[in-house]
Amino acid sequence: MSPERWLLAGVATVAVSVFAGCSDDAATSDGRLQVATTVAPITSIVANIGGDRVKITGIVPEGTNSHTFEPKPSDAELLSRADVMFINGLKLEDPTRDLAEQNLKDGADIVELGTKSIPPSQYAYDFSFPKSGGKPNPHLWTDPKYALRYAAVVRDELVKRDPADAAYFDANYAKFKTKVGALDTAMRTSFATIPRAQRKLLTYHDAYAYFGRDYGWDIIGAIQVSDFEDPTPKEVAGLIDQIKRARVPAIFGSEVFPSPVLAEIGKEAHVKYVDTLRDDDLPGKPGDPDHSWMGLMHFDYETMVEAMGGDASALKAFKPANVVADTASYPQ
Ligand SMILES: [Zn+2]
Repeated sequence: MSPERWLLAGVATVAVSVFAGCSDDAATSDGRLQVATTVAPITSIVANIGGDRVKITGIVPEGTNSHTFEPKPSDAELLSRADVMFINGLKLEDPTRDLAEQNLKDGADIVELGTKSIPPSQYAYDFSFPKSGGKPNPHLWTDPKYALRYAAVVRDELVKRDPADAAYFDANYAKFKTKVGALDTAMRTSFATIPRAQRKLLTYHDAYAYFGRDYGWDIIGAIQVSDFEDPTPKEVAGLIDQIKRARVPAIFGSEVFPSPVLAEIGKEAHVKYVDTLRDDDLPGKPGDPDHSWMGLMHFDYETMVEAMGGDASALKAFKPANVVADTASYPQ
């Protein structure tokens, strides 16, 4: 039995009291709302609203596969102190959710940002997330429209739990909304330089389904199959045919999921392969100016436009920035 399962088996409370007794900063509440988050883009969105009035700690280390991530037993201690936990939902972080349910204190809640931002009738099921698997595509945050909804849910929850700082959270949300609007404009301006019929995306990791719907890109396939393994040789041959038929100039890999098969497919299909897209690993290091959800969007969409032969100057002119200093903890 893994340590995680062992914790879930009902002894979590005992384990937590042991951790709390020996950890230096445990339970030393500084008076601020204690917030736990999962993946880095969510941590960044929460940090833009909460600023330094709340203490924000992420759980999923950057650069790991968030879809198969299992929390460490020591994360139970962090969760036991949290007042609120923001997760994506849409079944992305079920093991972490389970650990939270076992360990959150009375009055603490899990808030599923994705689940609150889209009705189930609009869930995307596709190549890597087939309906038969029961898990919808969870990547709403790569679409600025949904990221802004996440921010609104965060604002409402923080206002409810810390009404004294309501004006601060409201002001941060307003600034964030303005900045997301400018990003949206830069994205649309840059995308418009690529003829609509040529906006076809074939990615390794299937993280752009909702983005594609809202920004007029056809997602023609994903290389990564639903069990997060590489495709079989037969599937690879099918993908090469598909890429040739679609006549796309480039296909896109994921920095989080390096795969030699992608290079092979690019070579065989005679297209550029760009393996630097990222869906939940923020650019740079914590503290860097582009280490943010907005920096992530800026990087991905500028990369996409340039590889597809478009003019990314509107995106290049956009400066991603947090609306308040980011004091959240991002595990690496
Ligand atoms: Zn992902």
